Amino acid sequence: MSAPAIQLKNVSVRFPIRKGILRRVAGEVHAVDSVSFDIPQGETVGLVGESGSGKSTTGRALIGLAPLVDGTVECFGRDLRTLRQSPGALPRMSQIVFQDPYASLNPRMSVGETLREVLEVHGLAKGRDADQRVGRLLDDVGLRRDLAERYPHALSGGQRQRVAIARALAIEPKFIVLDEVVSALDVSIQGQIVNLLQDLQQERGLTYLFITHDLSIVRHVSHSIVVLYGGQIMEKGPRKSIFSTPLHPYTSALLSAVPVPNPAIERKRPRIDVRSEPPDPSAPLPGCRFQKSCLFATGICRSSRPQLRSVADRHPDHLAACHHMQEPHVREALSRAAKGALS
Ligand code: ADP
Ligand code: MG
Repeated sequence: MSAPAIQLKNVSVRFPIRKGILRRVAGEVHAVDSVSFDIPQGETVGLVGESGSGKSTTGRALIGLAPLVDGTVECFGRDLRTLRQSPGALPRMSQIVFQDPYASLNPRMSVGETLREVLEVHGLAKGRDADQRVGRLLDDVGLRRDLAERYPHALSGGQRQRVAIARALAIEPKFIVLDEVVSALDVSIQGQIVNLLQDLQQERGLTYLFITHDLSIVRHVSHSIVVLYGGQIMEKGPRKSIFSTPLHPYTSALLSAVPVPNPAIERKRPRIDVRSEPPDPSAPLPGCRFQKSCLFATGICRSSRPQLRSVADRHPDHLAACHHMQEPHVREALSRAAKGALS
């Protein structure tokens, strides 16, 4: 494994809750709470969790779009706070691509104009040089060069997402946050975009944070996985270890929601359900964030927050935060539910 490109240490992000006509601050949303993980250079970390678990906020914090209330972020050995002070330094290093490129592309600009604008704003190319660069960017993302004349509304969803990727690539960043980039696309198109991203990573040594609520998507692209729930990490580790032997009941619930292609296995597979009770991010509970939805929760889960730790017979980088993960009945239930999820 190479040196970390991105390092988060105890990162917390909170948002004020404003109430009444005076917009007084009535509380805080604990969107991300003491999150630590590394992304090795040239690798992909899959950041997963249900809606509201803090994935996008984590991604935005990494590229300087959400202020940290606590903790540190290092990008390629440099502190994010220092990078933010030098104009343009952070965007040249890190870019973000969103789920809905339609919302992030200007409808009144053609594809060519959109890409040319980025090159010019960052002082990377102008005039004929910029035109040639636009052509090459379209080649890079597998789009025909004549699409430069088109406007976003005249493109398919997959083509729009390719344009959004080209726009991020124009700046030649080393790190890209991919926030649900394939979630709105048809399954066949999802595969094409995922392949494109993997090819680009291999050619250019790009580092990715791949954010998704759908574990089956990151199964093919991630080197390692980080599972968020209620703004905290429930489990993290190498992809294979997480998929074959999840340690946390929440990860197991996410895994058992991924359909297995073989119907015979699918029918017989036990499920770890989540009692549907999303956590209230403005009033975090003491103890485990997942306690109200967990089938295995006991008194200790309500009183004390479990720390991330490894277990003896698993990969040393595979960590989970659960008081009961070593108990035989929990392990047995989790491994039965995970069976088949990797096939
Ligand atoms: P995810 O991407 O996993 O769905 P988010 O990071 O978007 O989750 O949101 C995490 C929590 O932070 C949610 O409770 C959300 O409502 C809250 N949140 C996100 N952005 C803001 C904001 N700008 N202002 C207030 N609350 C926010
Ligand atoms: Mg999100």
